[in-house]
Amino acid sequence: MEKITGIGVSPGIVVGRAFVLDDEHRRIPRRPIAPESVERQIQRLHDAIDASVADLERVRAQAEVDMGRDAAQIFSFHIGMLKDRVMIGSIEEVIRDQLVTAEYAVDHIFGQWADRFRAMPDSAFTTKVNDITDLAGRVLEHLVGEHSTTLDRLDDEVIVVARELTPSQTVGFNRNKVMALATDLGGKTSHTSIVARALNIPAVVGLQNLCAKLTDGVTLIIDGDAGVVIIDPDDETIERYLGQEAERDKIQLSLKELAKLESITTDGVRVEIMGNIEFADEITDVIDYGCSGIGLFRTEFLYLATNTEPTEDVHFDVYRSCIERLGGLPLTIRTMDLGADKSSRSHIENPERNPALGLRSIRYCLQNLPMFKHQIRAILRASALGPVKLMIPLVSSIGEFRQAKHLIHDVMEDLTDAGIPFDPKMPLGVMIEVPSAALLASTFAREVDFFSIGTNDLVQYTLAVDRTNERVADLFNPTHPAVLKLVRDVVRAARRRDVPVSSCGESAGDIEFAALLIGLGVRTLSVTPGSVPSIKRLVRSISMDRCERLAKKAISFDSDTEVSMYVRARLRKEIPEAYDRVGPRAG
Ligand code: PEP
Ligand code: MG
Repeated sequence: MEKITGIGVSPGIVVGRAFVLDDEHRRIPRRPIAPESVERQIQRLHDAIDASVADLERVRAQAEVDMGRDAAQIFSFHIGMLKDRVMIGSIEEVIRDQLVTAEYAVDHIFGQWADRFRAMPDSAFTTKVNDITDLAGRVLEHLVGEHSTTLDRLDDEVIVVARELTPSQTVGFNRNKVMALATDLGGKTSHTSIVARALNIPAVVGLQNLCAKLTDGVTLIIDGDAGVVIIDPDDETIERYLGQEAERDKIQLSLKELAKLESITTDGVRVEIMGNIEFADEITDVIDYGCSGIGLFRTEFLYLATNTEPTEDVHFDVYRSCIERLGGLPLTIRTMDLGADKSSRSHIENPERNPALGLRSIRYCLQNLPMFKHQIRAILRASALGPVKLMIPLVSSIGEFRQAKHLIHDVMEDLTDAGIPFDPKMPLGVMIEVPSAALLASTFAREVDFFSIGTNDLVQYTLAVDRTNERVADLFNPTHPAVLKLVRDVVRAARRRDVPVSSCGESAGDIEFAALLIGLGVRTLSVTPGSVPSIKRLVRSISMDRCERLAKKAISFDSDTEVSMYVRARLRKEIPEAYDRVGPRAG
């Protein structure tokens, strides 16, 4: 039994068997196999080599057409290398002697080859290193890819363990089979974690080298609340954790009772609680928990779930379904926010050096106008069916907002000409998640209908802390006084122009940060559906006056540590019931 602590990003406790997902972009872990699996691993090796040779024969035939016979010779050389009996023999030997997987043996032997060539003084040999790495990658893709595609057709329930998962991999999971996730990399606000919460899959990230320690089938306990993974637990530990999960479900159920109650502070001020969703079917939870609408509909899944760009009708059908489910409650649709850690196929194929600062979100949309127009047309058409707001992410200058607004007006004209109905008064807002936008909030307030503060990115960009990097996870702190001051100034600027402000970053679902947001003047919190009960309980047990005094004092501290310690100490003392162990998992 071994206990490893990481970052709990999606709550819930699960006991199950590991399914270790290899990742083509990393070192292949040395995973031991049982002696009786040797022949199967050797068969996998041969299948992967045959498939790679077949690929190369296709590539060679095409190269002959495109570049002529001589130029295509290189592929004959590659095919020859792959069929080399000595090389295949040494890979088989590693599998047999060391009892390891085919992928590990391939990685190992190709690595040795590459090292040998690299050490040769003649440059004719050193240039072959790339060819070897490329060949190894091709064979590994067949071995590793074979394992990852089986994820779609899992027969049993498993806990998926991986070095890293992309949001598109997570979106594609069979929710009935994936009980929990555990990854070596990642942070609380990385999109894979957000998607795990949306899917109600308990998850722990930032586990460093868990992957390399596991073989498929090992029993694991995943505690997504505490951020703990236990490898090969004994019976007593399993019992204890299952007991905790049952207790947790009971609390969750009792919190659901709160759904029917009003979200008002003890001194009578209304704080609106809305839901953040990734998928239309989460709206059932949003309604069950008594939210007053959707404050953030992330539409990226439309682009991540397939390799093709969604058409206007695909967008429209999803929005219509949301509106129907919401039965008159407002739906805030955020336009596409791809880029950074939310990568579509085209982002993966054209990687950027520094994607969080690159062509993401509204920047990408403004450079891909036909694609952007499809989404805007669909949102406008949907606005004829119910209360819809359109929200633009990652604006960093007023010029970007104006360009988007012009485009929206153009689309409105087209729709009018075509006699297609839409709401001409559909509110148009921006996310405040880049410090430049926060600092220019009074400029934006003159032109927009609402603000939504996105603390995930606002913290990332204000504190220069990558939200997806577990190595700096302890520096990702929304309670940093610099962040609090930006929030305070945004709220002040908005109030002067009567512009409503909400907050939709993950930290709005944290009771301590939520108390600060309320104290700083935010009157709408948009949170993961499962966080609604604990936030509503907070609102109903605290006064506005208390929140304001808390925020005033917190903002006067010099560091995030002081702020966090102060807020925690006050709230624990004054409203201890707000700390009952309960996580944002829909029950
Ligand atoms: C945010 O940045 O706070 C936000 C809500 O947007 P996302 O997490 O989708 O980037
Ligand atoms: Mg964001």
